[in-house]
Amino acid sequence: MKKLMVIILLIGAASYGTAQNQSSSYPVYSGKDLGLTYSPTAATFKIWAPTATAAKLNLYKSDMGGNAIRSINLSKGENGVWYITVTENLKNSYYTFQVHIGNAWSEEVVDPYAKACGTNGLRAQVIDLKETNPIGWAGDKSPNFSSANKQTDAIIYELHVRDASIHTSSGIKNKGKYLGLAEVGTKNSAGLTTGLSHIKELGVTHVHLLPFYDYNSVDETKSEVQYNWGYDPVNYNIPEGSYSTNPADGKVRIKELKELIKTMHSNGLRIIMDVVYNHTALTKNANFNILVPDYYYRKRADGSFSDASSCGNETASDNAMFQKFMIESVVYWVNEYHIDGFRFDLMGIHDIETMNLISDTLRKIKPSIVLYGEGWTSSSSPLPDEKRALKRNAAQLNGIAVFSDDMRDGIKGSVFNINDRGFATGQIENSESVKFGIVAAGKHPQINYSKVNYSKEPYTASPAGLINYADCHDNNILWDKIELSFKDASVAERTKMHELAYAIVLTAQGASFLHAGTEFLRTKNGVENSFDKGDIVNSINWDLKTQNNASYTFIKSLIQIRRAHPAFRMQTAQQIAAHLNFEKNLPTGIIAYTINGAAVGDRWKKIWVAYNGKQTPQTISLPKGTWKVGLSSKGSSKSANNYTLAGSSAVILYGE
Ligand code: CA
Repeated sequence: MKKLMVIILLIGAASYGTAQNQSSSYPVYSGKDLGLTYSPTAATFKIWAPTATAAKLNLYKSDMGGNAIRSINLSKGENGVWYITVTENLKNSYYTFQVHIGNAWSEEVVDPYAKACGTNGLRAQVIDLKETNPIGWAGDKSPNFSSANKQTDAIIYELHVRDASIHTSSGIKNKGKYLGLAEVGTKNSAGLTTGLSHIKELGVTHVHLLPFYDYNSVDETKSEVQYNWGYDPVNYNIPEGSYSTNPADGKVRIKELKELIKTMHSNGLRIIMDVVYNHTALTKNANFNILVPDYYYRKRADGSFSDASSCGNETASDNAMFQKFMIESVVYWVNEYHIDGFRFDLMGIHDIETMNLISDTLRKIKPSIVLYGEGWTSSSSPLPDEKRALKRNAAQLNGIAVFSDDMRDGIKGSVFNINDRGFATGQIENSESVKFGIVAAGKHPQINYSKVNYSKEPYTASPAGLINYADCHDNNILWDKIELSFKDASVAERTKMHELAYAIVLTAQGASFLHAGTEFLRTKNGVENSFDKGDIVNSINWDLKTQNNASYTFIKSLIQIRRAHPAFRMQTAQQIAAHLNFEKNLPTGIIAYTINGAAVGDRWKKIWVAYNGKQTPQTISLPKGTWKVGLSSKGSSKSANNYTLAGSSAVILYGE
């Protein structure tokens, strides 16, 4: 995420009581029809509000301002449900609800199950979803991708919708919009591809978009001048309006997002949605909390809202109706929008049972779905650690990967200490953390777990359980981190370190993850956690692709090699333990290993990978046999039995 620096907090909840008190006695509604069911002759509205003594529907002509044209009382149904069927065609009208709890009517609220809304998500909208399908939607198909348990084949590109196109260098017309990222054939001033065509050219398999559900922080009437990452959810089942060309008409944002998804699919790319079910932008006045006060959130023993997100609250996936909401929400995005994967923000807040229900449910619908999340929280939670989807419990998750902060910080130094360096920036003491990432945080006989920076034992059951990365939207982008932690290094030296960092990520076992633009040394000018720092800091300057084209080509080649060679994408921890062997007796600062490619079906029968974390060249002797160069950093060279690695460099050799 997010607003605050994410702190890896794995301590228990000693100061908290068990606060899941009254909510366990609430009735549970198991129907799948909460929200609006629309037809041209009737609209049925259902909300769950078990503590209400009355409820009403308000209908409006417009999305903002003006009085309700009608208010209609809802009838009480079973298990806390309130409902009404209006036998008219209500298409395009807007609506809110109010509930009577205690002695008062609540303020107006948008039903969390709403699927369309007007500007700023203030009122939901009655729409005919069929009218939101762009031309060709019926034929939209996700590109082929490996089936379940082969999540290791994913090469994920993390991108913010607006960042992709808003810079003048993008050559894109619909700047900052869903439609901008759907433009193809766009170019920078040197004629190099930008936007979607660039991503296709780079060769990644999945585009992970930062939040594009309806979020709170950008005023959709002023979206030209406002910016936010969007980790502050309001309407989970509705696309964000500021990325659309008309936020007032709920159909437009849906149609334009589908247009983007369709274009990605037809260009061989799959789309992953960044979801933030762990907290809501508002707390007391959140839609959930107005409808059923306190139910959807974890509370402390003293009655206050618990706050493991450090954003004011934390949701309670361990409560039946929020678990139900999460499952139905992700299923809806897959079915209606053809989403190919989810990234769960602060997944450590959610309970393991809910995450596994989500995984099992989604894999029945789409076996190739890609699922991963942050295996940590931002602050402590009252739900016991052993129940939550934390990194240390990753082996209990069914096909959901966690991010490797061990690898991330092993490569470049701690994200919480600006001066700290990692293996790729000369801090060669971090080599064991990097080796731990190379084996995808699993059980391997050659890892000395006591020397790993954070986790002192394996935590994945298989490499499909790990996302390896060097940077993401949080904290400093890699180029800036290298500059800030190594001010003495020249640009040329820092470039080599950056390329080494990505050589490690893209040859390691487990799935790979890149932050957009990092393939051509994107900078955020040293600004950390730029969630609200505007386009000047966040926009992708596509002219950097021209300027740093050698780095781009190097990283693109790494991606091509990874995609072509299953040896870098082994499927089980046993394969990795048996067929990936670290070389012994190496000079300090070198990590080298061989992979038995033949044993895992690779046409490269044997592979030799080496990284030099030191800034000076080092020569090592090669294992016996004939070796060809798969990819090598500049300045390295091979002789008959030796290989000389340039300072801060990587090499991949192979034998056929
Ligand atoms: Ca919004």
